[in-house]
Amino acid sequence: MGVAIRETVELQTCGHYIGGQWVYSASDQWFQTANPATGETLAQFSRGTEDDVRRAIDAAEAAFPAWKRTPAPKRALILLKAAMIMTERKDELGALVSAEMGKVIAEGRGDVQEAIDFLEYIAGEGRRMYGETTPSELPDKFCMTVRQPLGVVGCITPWNFPIAIPIWKLGAALVTGNTVVFKPAEQTPLCMAKITEVFEEAGLPAGVLNVVYGFGEDAGAEVVANPRVKAISFTGGVETGRIVYTSAAKHLKPVELELGGKNPQIVMDDANLDLALDGVLFGAFGTAGQRCTATSRLLLHEAVYDAFMDRLVTAVEALRVGNPLDPGVDVGPVINDEAGERIMDFIASGKREATLITGGERLTGGDYDQGFYIQPTIFATEHGTRISQQEIFGPVLSVIKVRSYEEAVAIANDIEYGLSSSIYTKDVNRAFQAVQDLEAGITYINAPTIGAEVHLPFGGTKNTGNGGREAGSAAIDEFTEIKTVFVDYSNRLQKAQIDG
Ligand code: ADP
Repeated sequence: MGVAIRETVELQTCGHYIGGQWVYSASDQWFQTANPATGETLAQFSRGTEDDVRRAIDAAEAAFPAWKRTPAPKRALILLKAAMIMTERKDELGALVSAEMGKVIAEGRGDVQEAIDFLEYIAGEGRRMYGETTPSELPDKFCMTVRQPLGVVGCITPWNFPIAIPIWKLGAALVTGNTVVFKPAEQTPLCMAKITEVFEEAGLPAGVLNVVYGFGEDAGAEVVANPRVKAISFTGGVETGRIVYTSAAKHLKPVELELGGKNPQIVMDDANLDLALDGVLFGAFGTAGQRCTATSRLLLHEAVYDAFMDRLVTAVEALRVGNPLDPGVDVGPVINDEAGERIMDFIASGKREATLITGGERLTGGDYDQGFYIQPTIFATEHGTRISQQEIFGPVLSVIKVRSYEEAVAIANDIEYGLSSSIYTKDVNRAFQAVQDLEAGITYINAPTIGAEVHLPFGGTKNTGNGGREAGSAAIDEFTEIKTVFVDYSNRLQKAQIDG
């Protein structure tokens, strides 16, 4: 993605949002956002520098005391208003998600709906945000915990859910009373600009949300490294996650990491095969495989292997690849050429180390030349190959034959990631055994590896993260500190562990 100079391009230009003002970077550097399906440039953005991030932190620090003092139910009302505005604008925002990120329109609208759902859910925390009360070991003494905001928090997000993921972070950070410096993905800044507009219209006070557009190595890195930012919420790749975690560690700064996945769907010999087929189609090829929860490994029991593979190949070859704004299309382009080349490199190694069953080519000619479109691809492979071990983030499925439940679980777990997992079986005992055995933050029974619901915690084990969870009740833990409070109303000095 090139950096353009403002004067040379007639385009919608967008500045950062700092202290309630839309401002350009002093650097006068720009970058563009484009439609992955057509190559059309959608807008150009001021490219944020470390200085811009520091200005954003100034604004967030200045806004923090008043926002912290605003009663949580009042903060929540602004989130509800934002949810209402997003509901009114759902069609427009959904189309923008498709246009800027490339997912098909039904999923673009789903991205927006997920954001609305989360705002509605998390607004309820404005009247909950529970602490604990507990008896004291001493008479006339009261013990409790209260939750307090962290201060200025930093949020850094990827491009694949350009509305939902920012809102997961933002909704939770705001209702709990933090002020925010936000660095969205450089591939989808326009979606973040629309989110910002929504919050502005909803009445969010100036300085509570500050958005700096730009790239990871300068703007993103400064958000993480600056000691005035008290916590980081990051979703992205595992290598970037390591850099972020290491940088934040210098200030002992809490970091929530949501990283990659290599998610297995197990199909047992007693599975409802129609259901399992629908599941793997959606799980593997929805969003062109560009979800951290995408099904990238199908662990297929040998008893159903041949029959299931035949049906799977027929169904995959019937998927329509094309412009995501066309409602008849099932699979859109991948985000950009760089990602496309990386996926094609995985496909090339798959062709060497495994058996290509279908797909395996970049689509070219006509409209396909405007973006990077890849055929939905299936490999039959042994466990342990590169394609079956590394996250591809594209429409590529590795199918591995298994002889037993035990072997399926062993292979499912023999991986560096642990985000999502799924098993199709009619045996209730086996289903619960899988809940116990699969090493992942999420397990679905008779459903694909994708499809998180916002009121449940989301996150993974192993290299998928650092143990935290987003969404659900866990969202509040991420953005609050617990203060333990003792109220002694005895009117004398009481000594814990010593008196009595
Ligand atoms: P993806 O592969 O999904 O693009 P990345 O991990 O590269 O994932 O990017 C996710 C987010 O992290 C983006 O907003 C990106 O700009 C940001 N980012 C990249 N490098 C850094 C870094 N060194 N420090 C902070 N943020 C970064």
